[in-house]
Amino acid sequence: MSHRLIACEHCDYLHVEEDIPTGSVACCVRCGSPLYSAEQAHFDKPLAFAITALLLFIIANSFPVLTFAMEGRVETNTLGSGVLTFWQEGFPFLALMVALTSILAPLFLIVAHIYVLLPIWLNIRLPGMQKVWRVLALVRPWSMLDVFLIGLLVALTKLTDFAQVIAGPAFFAVCCLIPTVLLMNVTLDPRYVWRRLAPDRLRYPDQDDLKRLSNGSGVSQARHCGLLTCHTCAMVVLEQKDGHTRCPRCGDAVHQRKARSLSRAWALLLTAVILYVPANVFPIMTVTYLGRAEADTILSGVAALAQAGEWPIAIVVFVASILVPIVKIVLLGWVYFATYLGLAGPLRERTLIYRITELVGRWSMVDVFMVSILAALVKLGNIASVQPGFGAVAFCGVVIATMLSAMAFDPRLIWDRAGLARSKFSKRNADEQDQIEKQGAAS
Ligand SMILES: [Zn+2]
Ligand SMILES: [Zn+2]
Repeated sequence: MSHRLIACEHCDYLHVEEDIPTGSVACCVRCGSPLYSAEQAHFDKPLAFAITALLLFIIANSFPVLTFAMEGRVETNTLGSGVLTFWQEGFPFLALMVALTSILAPLFLIVAHIYVLLPIWLNIRLPGMQKVWRVLALVRPWSMLDVFLIGLLVALTKLTDFAQVIAGPAFFAVCCLIPTVLLMNVTLDPRYVWRRLAPDRLRYPDQDDLKRLSNGSGVSQARHCGLLTCHTCAMVVLEQKDGHTRCPRCGDAVHQRKARSLSRAWALLLTAVILYVPANVFPIMTVTYLGRAEADTILSGVAALAQAGEWPIAIVVFVASILVPIVKIVLLGWVYFATYLGLAGPLRERTLIYRITELVGRWSMVDVFMVSILAALVKLGNIASVQPGFGAVAFCGVVIATMLSAMAFDPRLIWDRAGLARSKFSKRNADEQDQIEKQGAAS
C-alpha cells in the first residue's frame, strides 16, 4: 500500500489510504461517508455482468413488455413506446426525460463499462477511455431502470382490474437486468478504474507530502494545506498558484469547492417548490373508460389504489410520489439554510441527511413512468384510453429540479461554514469563505 492521501468528498477531511479486508469499505472518521472499498485486482466480474446486462438490454428493447387485451382488441408496448406516445401527444419534455432515464442512460452505463473494462482486462488501450469514464460519472444518476420497473408494476396493478394483461419477454428481461446492473456496480469501485486509466508513473500525494505541507501542524482539511480533490476522479492534487489546477489523472479542471454552490442549489430548490403546486393541482393523466373520462391527480391516483384494496402498491406510490418530494425539499432546505447561516451542531447527521436525500430523490419518477406505460398501452379510444396531463410534466420537473439542486450543492460547505455564526471572528471567516467560493466561480 502506497499510503496515498484521500480527502472525503463530503467533508474534505484528509485520510491516508490503508489496506482494508476484502469486501469491506473504509469510511470517513469525521462524517461517516464511505471513502473507498477494498482494492480490486480483477475486473472480470463487473465485465461479465456488463456483457450479460447488454444482452438483457437488447432483449428488453426488442420484445413487448406488456400485452393488453380488451373487448377483443390487443395492444402491446415496448420500452420505447412511452417515449413515442409522449412525443405524439405533444409532451416533448416528458418524451425526452423518459428516453434519457429508461433507455439512453442505462444503455450508456452498460456500454461504457464494456468499452473501458474489456481493454483493461485484455491489457490494451483504446482511444477515449478516460473521456468515456468521465462522462459515465455524469450519466450514472440518470439511469433509472429500477424505478421504471416499479412504474411498470404500478401500471400492471392498475390495468389488471378491467382488462387482461400479459407480461411479455421484455418484462422478464427488465426484471433480470436490474439485479445484473446492480451487481455490475457493487463489484466495481470506479476509483480503481481511474488508477488503471492514469498516465504511467503518475505520482500521488502521500503521507510525506502531508507532513511537508502541514509543517507537522496536524491539519485535518485538504484545503488548509493547499490540496484539492478532483470532482470527477476524486484524486487529491496540489493546488496551482495561478488558480488553474488541472487533474493529472482525468484532465478535468479542479476547484476547491463547486462554483456558486449554495446559490445554484437554492435556485433549483425554489424551482422545485414552485413546480410542486401545479404537479399536485393538475391531473397527471386522464383515463377514459367506456365513454366516461376521469382526470387523475397524484393524490387521487393513490386514493384509487387504496380503495381497490391494493395497499402495498398504494403505499409505494404514496411514499415515492408524495412523501419523498416533500421530505426531500424540506430537508434540503434545512441543510442549505443551516449552511448559509453557518450553524454549528450535528454536522455528521446533516451530512447523512444530505447523502440520503441525494440517493432517494430519483424514486419519485415512478408516477411519470407509470403514465408513460399506461398512455402507450391503453389506446382503445372511447372504450379505454389514457392521455398524459400537464401535472406529469410539472411533477417530472420537481424530481429533476430537486436532483439537480442536490448535485449543485457542495456538502463540504456544511463543514467549512460550521460555527461561523457563533465565531468571534465570524465576519473575517465569512469573508474568507466567500472569497473561496468566488474563486471557484471565477476559474
Ligand atoms: Zn467526511
Ligand atoms: Zn480527476
